[in-house]
Amino acid sequence: MTYQGVLTKMETEFLEPIHYYLVFENDFINMNQLLNKSITLQFVKYQCLNCNLNKPIYRQGFCKSCFFDIPQAADWIMRPELSTAHLDKEDRDLEYEKKVQLQPHIVYLANSSNVKVGVTRKSQVPTRWIDQGAHEAIEIVEVPNRYLAGVTEVALKDHVSDKTNWRTMLKNDIVDENLVAWRDKLKAFIPEEAKDYFIENNTETNLNFPVVKYPTKPKSLNLLKSKTFTGVLSGIKGQYLIFEDDTVFNIRSNEGLVVDLTVN
Ligand SMILES: [Zn+2]
Repeated sequence: MTYQGVLTKMETEFLEPIHYYLVFENDFINMNQLLNKSITLQFVKYQCLNCNLNKPIYRQGFCKSCFFDIPQAADWIMRPELSTAHLDKEDRDLEYEKKVQLQPHIVYLANSSNVKVGVTRKSQVPTRWIDQGAHEAIEIVEVPNRYLAGVTEVALKDHVSDKTNWRTMLKNDIVDENLVAWRDKLKAFIPEEAKDYFIENNTETNLNFPVVKYPTKPKSLNLLKSKTFTGVLSGIKGQYLIFEDDTVFNIRSNEGLVVDLTVN
């Protein structure tokens, strides 16, 4: 059975364990059902997620000209503190920016390889944590816009990491942290303008990933170089497919690639 489609990050369902779905134009593939099965991935061509053209992907699934043009790829996406819609100030497209930035945002702590701080729209909880491969997470503040979340994250970065080590995350070399204690410790460093939004009484969310066997030495698959790869799927964590031979494939960083997925 071969499915063909352009890669976009897998849809997820917060169940025990988490369920993953690859969504192609004509197919909806339940990836959990492919565990312990041999699958083949083959590169076919590029398809920019904005213009749909067969042009090399530059970043975030977009070709270079789209990446530097469209509002979905502006700097404030990766650096929320640069958001300006709350000031009625346009970056690339004020209408789009208002829609995305002026809605409840969460600053959270997530533990995937270490405790890190992050920002997401409230509607993306717990999806964002699943995508990062966090086994536990907690909200710290809920603010009315992206800017406030961004300045809070920047202030907290001096006291907690904002990065994940993907190898550690995939090897599942994890430590169970007390995130409630972390949240209380970081409270003092929340900037003045966001202090009122601190969440006092919540508990950790724990996440369970569908993994049969974790890799001991994860090696990243470069499908553009190898063109094709066959392996037995042994797990899914974050947005990574994990194979029995320790090969891992990050769906998220391969968005915009059209592939054939064959179940052998
Ligand atoms: Zn494009």
